[in-house]
Amino acid sequence: MAKKPEAAAEFQLQWREMIPERQNRKAVTIRTEADEKHFQELIDFARGLGARDGIAVKAEEIVTTEVMRLKCRIPTCWGYNSSFSCPPHSADAAAMRTIIDEYEWALLVSIPPPDPDSYEDTFEHMYKLKEIVGRTEVEAQYKGYLRSMGFTGGPCTLCGIFSPEWIQARKTGQGAPLCPLLTRELPFCTQYYHCRPAAQAVGIDVYYTAKNAGWEDHLSAPQPVVAGRVDWPCLPGVYPILII
Ligand code: SF4
Repeated sequence: MAKKPEAAAEFQLQWREMIPERQNRKAVTIRTEADEKHFQELIDFARGLGARDGIAVKAEEIVTTEVMRLKCRIPTCWGYNSSFSCPPHSADAAAMRTIIDEYEWALLVSIPPPDPDSYEDTFEHMYKLKEIVGRTEVEAQYKGYLRSMGFTGGPCTLCGIFSPEWIQARKTGQGAPLCPLLTRELPFCTQYYHCRPAAQAVGIDVYYTAKNAGWEDHLSAPQPVVAGRVDWPCLPGVYPILII
């Protein structure tokens, strides 16, 4: 009698250590106005984490359009509906415009994609850029900008979803979990320090925003058309952080 195949091992989410570890830090003064010297300090902080550069811009220069958010669905990105960071759960362009209009200042942070560019490199890049943006946003909060809010690129990948191993597990029919926050298996995201939606997912057009800021040189080179779509339009190389 043929031996019954053993059940494939289920893919386990691979949460990474929170970096840095939690530390007690001196209480901040809550700021209601920008102190422009902090912008350079935050840019230097982001550079220390691996960003190439940063620039302060007026929030009104950030361009929003539902076209960008619809690009998550036409053609449908494999990250669509995969976590609360992606459409249809993320804020739409109209809501985002209302939110951005409550701010005066934002930073644009340049985080170029890897070269050479394999999927493994891109996956690590998505993790890295979320770390840079998330930690810079939090650093702004330590300085007293409690409303600082960062936006990144690509779907949420922080607990190993969309990792090469996760994709392989899905392809071969092993169990491979979806976002446990979305499926309600967990009441919280354990990667909240880094977890930030893509700018595209909330209708921010980083391409026109960078152009407005004279920062086109920091945009990623156009990605090749792969299987009928431009690859990675949501990794433009420039990422906004609303400050105050
Ligand atoms: S939102 Fe949190 S729990 Fe969900 S996929 Fe991202 S890191 Fe994982």
